[in-house]
Amino acid sequence: MPLVFYNTLSRREEEFVPLEKGRVGLYVCGPTVYAPPHIGNLRTFFFADVLHRYLEYRGYDVTFVMNLTDVEDKTIAGARSAGVPLDEYTAPYIDLFFADLDALGIERADRYPRATQHIEGMVELIRALEGRGLAYATEDGSVYFDISRFEEYGKLSRVDLDAARPGGRVADDEYEKEDVRDFALWKAAKPEDEAVGAAWDTPWGRGRPGWHIECSVMSMAELGATFDIHAGGVDLIFPHHEDEIAQSEGATGKPFARYWLHGEHLLVEGEKMAKSRGNFFTLGDLRQREIRPSSIRYLFLQSHYRSKLNFTFEGLEAGAVAVGRLRTARDRLRDHPVTRAPDPESEPALHEVADRALGDFAAAMDADLNTSVALSALHAFARKVNARLDEHGPGPLSEAEHEAGMRVFARIDRVLGILSVADAEEEVVDDNLQRWVEERIEARARARRDRDFDRADAIRDELAGRGVTVEDTAEGTRWSV
Ligand code: AMP
Ligand code: ZN
Repeated sequence: MPLVFYNTLSRREEEFVPLEKGRVGLYVCGPTVYAPPHIGNLRTFFFADVLHRYLEYRGYDVTFVMNLTDVEDKTIAGARSAGVPLDEYTAPYIDLFFADLDALGIERADRYPRATQHIEGMVELIRALEGRGLAYATEDGSVYFDISRFEEYGKLSRVDLDAARPGGRVADDEYEKEDVRDFALWKAAKPEDEAVGAAWDTPWGRGRPGWHIECSVMSMAELGATFDIHAGGVDLIFPHHEDEIAQSEGATGKPFARYWLHGEHLLVEGEKMAKSRGNFFTLGDLRQREIRPSSIRYLFLQSHYRSKLNFTFEGLEAGAVAVGRLRTARDRLRDHPVTRAPDPESEPALHEVADRALGDFAAAMDADLNTSVALSALHAFARKVNARLDEHGPGPLSEAEHEAGMRVFARIDRVLGILSVADAEEEVVDDNLQRWVEERIEARARARRDRDFDRADAIRDELAGRGVTVEDTAEGTRWSV
């Protein structure tokens, strides 16, 4: 079955055929590093993770690039109010971003270029646009893209340009562009840019890049003028991605990204989760409420990436239960005894369902990454495993059957990453519990040494309250849960 993606550029589902057989160049717009990401942002980065993982599952050699937007209005304003240079201001948010990726089990991209490290390339690209008559500089030293000179402007977003009031200079605009619809490629430096070190020397004087030029330059520097897939959240279709196309194709004369994939928003009570609305949760907020990353992954997987998803705590709870069910089936099979001797009478049992499960999983993912159907395939398989073990009883399974079953869990989880993330959480819980119990047992021993038996008993009760029983033996105190 072919792999099919919905391409925003054509507004159709298309078979995915990469430029070069077996290889994929993937660029995803990354975070603006001025605050911790909220879980709406993380939904988009998670979507990119599933896309990346599934392309690799399909055997593609993927070059995955995600930028860090470290210079634009918000990072500059943040640095200014903190009274520190731009790079000092963004550094902890970059760390936070990576910490969140790790906690959610989002695998790393191959490269994370930063806008501030690509200024030279931006100047070059803008010069090329000037050379082709697609850009003009204004007296203050800013440079604009002249969209009236780029015929295909609007082909991605299908934006109605006439609705965006055309006309001469606008008095209330903070820059002096010729047409309201034109966008800034380069912005003349203001004192607040200089104050935080966000200004560079250029042929037009000192200034800093517009946001859109950053992604045109970083994507093409890493992946070439034409590459396979460009992705991001739906709010980036216009103007960000439309402008990226205009700049890149305008300057190179070659097609830019071939497939455009856009992830829908995470909502809260029907509204987009956004920092500006104040209706957001960070991963840290959720972890304080003891919500596990595996539940968040599960919640995200339950809806298609092109559907809006309403964030609710009930949804997360249901996710936790479902993850538990999958783990139980996997653990049951994993821990079941195995024999090398063939077991002819039951031989085909799990083999057949294993093949079907993998087939159903791939068919769902091939259909524009239908993760909710993919999850159903995994659940159906888990039920078959339970039924098989119930019917088989405690005797050993053949090694081949056991392997066939375990392979399904492992293969599917390479893409969905819920079992692996849940396993890692369990280890952390175990570690924390172990440390706590050891500390309490020591405190109890101290109390007994001090002949404070009331306190020692109170600690024993406290341990019992968390299901821990202690037993004093000749070799010392033993405990179990
Ligand atoms: P930003 O850090 O603001 O540049 O955003 C990073 C990514 O998060 C972009 O791809 C946005 O489209 C995406 N995004 C922002 N808000 C949401 C949301 N509520 N749900 C899903 N993705 C979002
Ligand atoms: Zn971008």
